[in-house]
Amino acid sequence: MERVVLLRSLSCSTACMRFLSLKPRSSWKTASTPLTQQLLISPRNRGLPLACGSRMRWVSTSRYAFQHKRGFSVSPQAIATPSKQASSGIDGSHDIAHELGFEKVSEQLIEECKSKAILYKHKKTGAEVISVVNDDENKVFGIVFRTPPKDSTGIPHILEHSVLCGSRKYPLKEPFVELLKGSLHTFLNAFTYPDRTCYPVASTNTKDFYNLVDVYLDAVFFPKCIEDYQTFQQEGWHYELNNPEEEISLKGVVFNEMKGVYSQPDNIMGRISQQVMFPDNTYGVDSGGDPKVIPKLTFEEFKEFHRKYYHPSNSKIWFYGDDDPNERLRTISVYLDQFDASSAPYESKVVPQKLFPKPVKVVEKYPAGDTGDLKKKHMVSLNWLLSEEPLDLETELALGFLDHLMLGTPASPLRKTLLESGLGDALIGGGIEDELLQPQFSVGLKGVAEEDVRKVEDLIIQTLEELANKGFDVEAIEASMNTIEFSLRENNTGSFPRGLSLMLRSIGKWIYDMDPFEPLKYEKPLNDLKARIAEEGSKAVFSPLIQKFILDNPHRVTIEMQPDTEKASRDEADEKESLEKVKASMTEEDLAELARATQELRLKQETPDPPEVLKCVPSLSLHDIPKHPIHVPIEIGEINGVKVLQHELFTNDVLYAEVVFDMCLVKQELLPLIPLFCQSLLEMGTKDMDFVQLNQLIGRKTGGISIYPFTSSIRGKVEPCSRIIVRAKSMAARVDDLFNLVNTVLQDVQFTDQQRFKQFVCQSKARMESRLRGSGHGIAAARMDAKLNTAGWIAEQMGGISYLQFLETLEKQVDQDWSAISCSLEDIRRSLLSRKGCLINLTADGKNLSNSEKHVSKFLDLLPATSSLETTSWKAQLYLGNEALVIPTQVNYVGKAGNLYDTGYQLNGSTYVISMYIGNTWLWDRVRVSGGAYGGFCDFDTHSGVFSYLSYRDPNLLKTLDIYDGTANFLRELELDEDTLTKAIIGTIGDVDGYQLPDAKGYSSMLRYLLGITEEERQKRHEEILSTSLKDFHDFADVVDVVKHKGVVVAVASEDDVTAANEERPGFFQVKKVL
Ligand SMILES: [Zn+2]
Repeated sequence: MERVVLLRSLSCSTACMRFLSLKPRSSWKTASTPLTQQLLISPRNRGLPLACGSRMRWVSTSRYAFQHKRGFSVSPQAIATPSKQASSGIDGSHDIAHELGFEKVSEQLIEECKSKAILYKHKKTGAEVISVVNDDENKVFGIVFRTPPKDSTGIPHILEHSVLCGSRKYPLKEPFVELLKGSLHTFLNAFTYPDRTCYPVASTNTKDFYNLVDVYLDAVFFPKCIEDYQTFQQEGWHYELNNPEEEISLKGVVFNEMKGVYSQPDNIMGRISQQVMFPDNTYGVDSGGDPKVIPKLTFEEFKEFHRKYYHPSNSKIWFYGDDDPNERLRTISVYLDQFDASSAPYESKVVPQKLFPKPVKVVEKYPAGDTGDLKKKHMVSLNWLLSEEPLDLETELALGFLDHLMLGTPASPLRKTLLESGLGDALIGGGIEDELLQPQFSVGLKGVAEEDVRKVEDLIIQTLEELANKGFDVEAIEASMNTIEFSLRENNTGSFPRGLSLMLRSIGKWIYDMDPFEPLKYEKPLNDLKARIAEEGSKAVFSPLIQKFILDNPHRVTIEMQPDTEKASRDEADEKESLEKVKASMTEEDLAELARATQELRLKQETPDPPEVLKCVPSLSLHDIPKHPIHVPIEIGEINGVKVLQHELFTNDVLYAEVVFDMCLVKQELLPLIPLFCQSLLEMGTKDMDFVQLNQLIGRKTGGISIYPFTSSIRGKVEPCSRIIVRAKSMAARVDDLFNLVNTVLQDVQFTDQQRFKQFVCQSKARMESRLRGSGHGIAAARMDAKLNTAGWIAEQMGGISYLQFLETLEKQVDQDWSAISCSLEDIRRSLLSRKGCLINLTADGKNLSNSEKHVSKFLDLLPATSSLETTSWKAQLYLGNEALVIPTQVNYVGKAGNLYDTGYQLNGSTYVISMYIGNTWLWDRVRVSGGAYGGFCDFDTHSGVFSYLSYRDPNLLKTLDIYDGTANFLRELELDEDTLTKAIIGTIGDVDGYQLPDAKGYSSMLRYLLGITEEERQKRHEEILSTSLKDFHDFADVVDVVKHKGVVVAVASEDDVTAANEERPGFFQVKKVL
């Protein structure tokens, strides 16, 4: 069973996020270890709604939360559920609205999110505004423009990056970065979709919130970039020439970001499927930008695109939360009133794609490494455009439900059949997608042998036919229904503001001029659907859908992708050749001019904004900041000799439970088996139930169970914290079932299914390979961590390169010696399961907490009192020098790390401020802005003392290392005025002690308990942050210099760049070819 997350709305995924929150999640807050953040490439990697569509989510939960997460795509999900009914709070607002130039179009009470929502139209420009009033303190604002591109030059994406680089009222280089540094935002980003661009912000502090809104409004309507060619060059593309003798190179943040995207086979597949499916409208091109086409974009076209589409008439504006609704209208009217109506809304309309008369098949190449069996590296996906017209809500909901039934869990028949067929390693395609004008359905496999491509196609069709003929089990229907309902009512959007998740739901219809409120109201259509299923039977509901929209639908596109080991170097050679041509066509004067322009751009990028300009970005003062960290209630008790932590918080009748076991008795050689052990527990079945039944039972009775390892150093201790965490949740009335099921999973599951286990191994391998290409910085970070401390070493065994190598051997071993593996899995279970070393963590309201105790007690009774095994000790063995992990890629991931505690450094809260500042200024300016990488950041793991630098989608290698090494000097020479320092402090507080939903609060509190972080320490760090001074920055220079002198380097990079680096610095890298 998987954790079902409310993904659809979370999957802004669809979008290119301008900025990945690669910020250090400083550790004493969530206490989740810092490199915890895994850039999970969603399995719904269909790229489809993929603007620059890296469907990436930055997940900051557990260190190795690799579970395959999948959302169901019921249309109207993700609904906020604040605790109380919103007070109307809008009396008299209509007169005010009228005075401010707005006309009320409609007003609705939305029970599902206990909100009142009003749709206004700005009379002068036609801008539409939705104002959602409720008592959610996490306020959200967003402005969205319809921005359909005509080609793949990436205009919408480059514009999305560029408008945040200074505006009329805020004429500094990057107000966006100033906000990142100095506000209490709970969300700050921008997304490019295939047909729209979206600018959302959120904060719980009202003053901060309106500061953010004003900066964003000024940015979109009055950006400097439309007059500033250099911003276009920096964010889009430009030629770089340091001196006329050298070769010309191509640079640009979006250019490199998209090179990274085009290095990932899953992404390429998603893009091609979309483009082939929509040859006649805007979805047939890439709004994110194709690196081959981006350099064709001119500044004139760029400016014109802004003029045309970033206009109030073409905008949709969203407000949500507990702030004064009149203030919202006042704020935006100031901006809107400066414009007259334009014809943009007509020009930006998306024209529907006509359905094909017959299916289409396309074969493409993707860049592959030459390791492994190339014959088994084909990918194939089947894609359908479901309809020419947008669908009604009921049909959409039913299709979403169908999607979950077919693909949502490991027990779902289409998913199960494909994976069990042995024809491929892992699933691709996103299932039903309904975020664009017309819905689509996609499914396929990767890791397919050349001769099996056709078989995959046939199997998909055949399985769909069977499902249409036979229908689904009653248990499956019940499980999907409960899972979907649970998610809707729980409305757990994770670290994503609820109001934003609602906005993205709503905008999915609103952007096409359909009813924006409809997607928010799921209760009635869901009940209607349930009633229909009850009356007519599920087959009558779902079979016609499969038949009509998929099987009988001629608009089917089959994409086969073939591995091509030459492609990466061919692309590189092509680029080189065209640059040589460019150079050859230039006169000496031209070259001198280009070198001068390169200099000038770099100088501009590296010159900080003057303090008086920086001051114009509004900020809070230290008085606005709470004097204490956010309090999470915790009661520490004991049941049957086991420590039980209880957090009394309002959770809307849901009980969140964690059961934690100590990993310290697991034998060293079994550590890499742990992730597969966890997966086996949930996906293998017991003596009485096969895994399908077990999965359905979990789906019917609970809100989900997940199991994963967690490791971290503990500050001041040699022994690391290494645990297995079982996370589970259910409605309070089903707590008995919940603990019974957790017990079943832990104790009754049998490790006997060799074939299923083989599938897990193949899937894990495929997933690790994707991670290497898509988030190589995570792999590099894990590798460096492994060289520097035990916790890191354990984690790398379970999720780094070591793990990938282990999987390669294991794949063969499953066939040769399955019984030994099965015994090892039993061995792990015996090492873990005991009351000794167990911990229970519960989060719910008081009544439900006390009701749970008897169930916990019963659960603990069933566990062995102690484990019979001897204590074991682990010995890390890993090459300690610099390593380059070579993969076929156009961009690199470069890391360097060292341990600050080795120098005797004592932790102080100021370090949070300083490391965040280094990331947001020095590294942002040098690695991203002038280096042209998509990201550059640093991270300080306060538990282990490891300080690491990392870059993301980086065209450079050694040059980036030099920047890292320059950090200490940057700090030594740093001058900070009061205002900048205050912003840095506020930004840090917002980052380390941010807004969390109740389950996350309870979870973080548990991690703090495990890592020995007391409330006194939190208070102390909070005060240290608030009192950080310039002297702290200067003093830290010597501390961080240890990374320069004693640090270790790991890069995930292309062969050419590594060879060049080793030529320049002989013997610098030990080279390891991993893909
Ligand atoms: Zn981007």
